[in-house]
Amino acid sequence: MFDVVVIGAGPGGAQAALELALRGRSVALLDSRQDIGNKVCTGIVSTQCAEEYSIPQEFRRFTANGATVHTPSGKTIVIRRSEPQAIAIDREKFVQHLASNAASCGAELMLGFRVTKVDVNRFGVRVTASTNGRMEVIEARAIVLATGFQAPLADQMGLDTPNSIGLAAQVEIETDDAETVQVYVRRYLPQTSFGWISPTGPDTAHIGLLGREHPRSVLQGFTEGLKREGFKYRELDRPRFWGVPLRASRRSYSYRCLAVGDAAGQIKPTTGGGIYYAMMAAGMAANTLDDALARDDFSSGRLKKYEDSWKSLLGKDLRLGYMARLFYERLTDAELARILLAADSSGLLDGEVSFDHHSVLVTKALKSSLFMSVLSAIPGVAARLALSR
Ligand SMILES: Cc1cc2nc3c(=O)[nH]c(=O)nc-3n(C[C@H](O)[C@H](O)[C@H](O)COP(=O)(O)OP(=O)(O)OC[C@H]3O[C@@H](n4cnc5c(N)ncnc54)[C@H](O)[C@@H]3O)c2cc1C
Repeated sequence: MFDVVVIGAGPGGAQAALELALRGRSVALLDSRQDIGNKVCTGIVSTQCAEEYSIPQEFRRFTANGATVHTPSGKTIVIRRSEPQAIAIDREKFVQHLASNAASCGAELMLGFRVTKVDVNRFGVRVTASTNGRMEVIEARAIVLATGFQAPLADQMGLDTPNSIGLAAQVEIETDDAETVQVYVRRYLPQTSFGWISPTGPDTAHIGLLGREHPRSVLQGFTEGLKREGFKYRELDRPRFWGVPLRASRRSYSYRCLAVGDAAGQIKPTTGGGIYYAMMAAGMAANTLDDALARDDFSSGRLKKYEDSWKSLLGKDLRLGYMARLFYERLTDAELARILLAADSSGLLDGEVSFDHHSVLVTKALKSSLFMSVLSAIPGVAARLALSR
């Protein structure tokens, strides 16, 4: 019997397995894929995340000091900093590196194991997985559920699945035209979406988008718009589609079980960035489980400490970020353009803007008299702000 079975070897699960193994716990890290890490994702993380988790240089593909924001009307806002702000990493290699570090520290890496069922009783957890056409049962004292977006196992564990979702599309391209990160705020995109061109090297990039509308047709409209404005590229692969939880779970723990990462909706509702949050939550999950294992106490009261810790670190960002997203979705193009230009001219985007903690920017906006005067001049905006809460 393992101390912990971690289901899902994405950044959340692999980091949880690594941290548990480092604490001397016996861990199995399972994933249905053989090619772990190969999930549709742009792979942008803050420099803080890259330093905190010592992401090796060889996986760092592109460093961004800023971004150009394209407003709905076509006006652009250039954000530039003297220091690097974000790094596009080779996400697949990084996740594989994390999992192999976990294995070097003693975790058993079980790839090609699709978990179909989890039974919990007062003696432990029985995890049933299919692999190579046969079923295997793996036993543990507790599990970490790190199965990503819309994890079907969450229901079996009595956890709620994040219920507000975004739909994303991405395609890898070859281009000579992508020198910096470009963010398209509704330009060539419908009401709820935003899009990006994110360089991954001297002549490669991702074109991607996130919103609530049907991503296949939105991607088509977006790429047609980019071509009209003269952006030249060649697709290196077919477009890929996936979902993003936009609102955190109300409950991320149950008897002998903790949910981590996208499975718990630990992702920035504004931009859909979830790698760093998943890894931070994984560390907190490992702490709580280590303590629970030492006491042989897996009760909800004990495991709730995990939820208390991640909510105290990330809860405000998730709450205010979700409010900001709903507000964005309710604005007309003209209102949005006015707000973005006001944010620029009021100095809101100057100075320190945290890449990871968006509540800081929302709070700064609410305190800026110039920005708030533009906001309050837009009819009905106060009501829409209130609706977003
Ligand atoms: C288009 C797009 C772009 C994105 N860009 C960024 C970005 O630039 N930066 C950023 O920080 N975030 C980004 N994200 C979000 C980011 O990808 C996720 O937040 C992050 O991967 C969450 O990690 P995770 O470990 O929770 O889940 P995942 O990375 O989804 O890993 C879950 C793992 O569980 C496995 N699994 C699922 N079910 C089972 C099962 N039953 N049995 C066994 N294994 C199972 C899967 O195979 C998978 O390997 C993006 C998302 C999308 C869709």
